[in-house]
Amino acid sequence: METSRKQLHVVAFGAHPVDMEIACGATLAKFVKMGHKATLVHLTLGERGNPNLSMAKYAEQKKVEVREAAEVLGCDVRVFPYHDAELPVNDEVQFMVCDTIRELKPDIVITHWEGSFHRDHLATNINVIRGVSWAGLSSMERKLLAHKVGQLYFTDNWEDAEGFVPEIYVEISNVFDQWVEAITRHQLVRGGVSPFPYLEYYKALATIRGAEVRIPKAEAFMRRPLSRRALVDLLPNY
Ligand SMILES: [Zn+2]
Repeated sequence: METSRKQLHVVAFGAHPVDMEIACGATLAKFVKMGHKATLVHLTLGERGNPNLSMAKYAEQKKVEVREAAEVLGCDVRVFPYHDAELPVNDEVQFMVCDTIRELKPDIVITHWEGSFHRDHLATNINVIRGVSWAGLSSMERKLLAHKVGQLYFTDNWEDAEGFVPEIYVEISNVFDQWVEAITRHQLVRGGVSPFPYLEYYKALATIRGAEVRIPKAEAFMRRPLSRRALVDLLPNY
């Protein structure tokens, strides 16, 4: 564990369990491996859509999957009390995001990119951006004091691909096997719930993103266009 640098806290907000684990779980595991802290926040339990289980039964299974996947990645985890496919965009959710950020004090927040065809993913994007903004506003009085997040990153997700351009690549080769073990704690990833081949798609995506920057495996991220402004003394040569 590195002790010379400040310990960072990374908090990833996903609409459903699986969303953040598949798209940034390896990066979270790498942060933890390097002595930092990571927390997963699922805004719903993702309890709909299992063809062989009732929503109540699948919800129980999901709670176990959520805990086990987070344990393998070395992350803390919490779940907001909203239902799958019913996540609203409103002040209540945004204050919950705000209060969570003021409590956890993340340096980095990760969430869904806005170009999504899934209503919960888009709702998460909007709620998280607004919640991050409120969290940093000292005039917004809540129980906890204001906290400004250093940087907001968006994930590379098959359902949020409209307008997503990979911008920042994290090498994940040394946590790839750990990441596969974590995501396969979810039945949605193993198969039998959705016709979408989650495991094969995201393993292949890690190889493709890696190839784009000439390394074995990578996860890619994007920032909001105006967050890309960088002040430098001279132009960097990379
Ligand atoms: Zn999702």
